[in-house]
Amino acid sequence: MENHGGKKRVVVVGGGIAGSLVAKSLQFTAHVTLIDPKEYFEITWASLRSMVEPSFAERSVINHRDYLVHGNIITSSAVNVTETDVITADGHKIAFDYLVIATGHADDVPKIRRDRLHQFVEHNERIRSARSIMIVGGGPTGVELAAEIAVDYPHKKITIVHKGPRLLDFVGTKAADKTLKWLESRNIVVKLEQSIDLKELSYENKTYRTSNGETFEADCYFLCLGKPLASAWLEETMLKHDMDEEGRIKVDEKLRVIGRRNIFAIGDITDIPEIKQGFAAQQHAEVVVKNLKVMIDGGRDCGQYRMENYKPQMPMAIVSLGRKDAVAQLPLMTVIGRVPGYIKSGDLFVGRTRRQMGLDSHTVHA
Ligand SMILES: Cc1cc2nc3c(=O)[nH]c(=O)nc-3n(C[C@H](O)[C@H](O)[C@H](O)COP(=O)(O)OP(=O)(O)OC[C@H]3O[C@@H](n4cnc5c(N)ncnc54)[C@H](O)[C@@H]3O)c2cc1C
Repeated sequence: MENHGGKKRVVVVGGGIAGSLVAKSLQFTAHVTLIDPKEYFEITWASLRSMVEPSFAERSVINHRDYLVHGNIITSSAVNVTETDVITADGHKIAFDYLVIATGHADDVPKIRRDRLHQFVEHNERIRSARSIMIVGGGPTGVELAAEIAVDYPHKKITIVHKGPRLLDFVGTKAADKTLKWLESRNIVVKLEQSIDLKELSYENKTYRTSNGETFEADCYFLCLGKPLASAWLEETMLKHDMDEEGRIKVDEKLRVIGRRNIFAIGDITDIPEIKQGFAAQQHAEVVVKNLKVMIDGGRDCGQYRMENYKPQMPMAIVSLGRKDAVAQLPLMTVIGRVPGYIKSGDLFVGRTRRQMGLDSHTVHA
């Protein structure tokens, strides 16, 4: 394989939680190129707090250049991959010795950090000027957003409309029931097993009818529905047979695409059997960084035994409920209130994630 300035070429596709950490961690070991359609990395789980407190996003929306001081950044989407190169929408052809695919979920967000920060200000203006708010979707995003609004704006009338029979269907029923009680104690109306026709949504319309025929008023709405996987770009590539029927990339225990020696996949895009979460994506990144260092040091014939195996995470999750409370699904129990809230809800792990990216946990140099 060809060297680049004496260093192996690592190309990382996707600058989310997983890909950014790999790029940052290998920037002095290899010649790293990060490909991402946005100029920034975002701590996704801080986005709901940023809607009620827009200045919160100043620490959680981070230009790639702030942590990737030594790597190459291509601000574009990958559209194809061959045995040797990644091709981007803007026509770049980037050769690799090792490839890491971390395209997670597709999200239609601004390309520039300043515009993303402004978007949070706009969301906040919509929340502040509304008397009643509809949230469509009762998964973790819908629940966290409803709780953030209820804590900061207790007089807003909030309605969650959720298709499923219970909230938070990725955790156990106990956690879901406790969450429902918490939300109802804050006067949030939760309509389960009901849906809204998305075609009827408009900012002019203020009266909504659910699938059960119930009507209610909402001055504004937020869609908190699952985002599609960002694997469509692989469907016409040499990796098209390396995905399962949901579009997730099949990986082995070393997090390599099955049957591929030098192509890894990490984060939400993989078929690893565990809850898709940021903290798992960060663990994937750490394993791949170790494995790539072994491969780069050891060359083509490095012993497999020195590489690390990834073990899927236990089913654990913490869903914040405003600034102080949270509900935690642990392996043997469910806890709600200040104790899990103390772990997550104050800073939402933003300081910790910034430190992990080699940045000051508080100071932002915009
Ligand atoms: C609102 C919200 C709250 C959450 N709360 C939590 C939480 O509290 N705790 C937790 O652990 N997890 C949480 N999660 C889940 C967590 O954010 C994800 O598991 C995590 O972001 C996955 O990381 P990833 O790097 O795999 O993918 P992503 O973070 O989705 O990043 C994918 C990256 O790939 C880029 N990309 C996409 N397509 C292409 C392409 N073709 N070419 C190049 N780049 C591309 C995107 O621009 C993006 O930068 C939350 C998610 C959301 C949306």
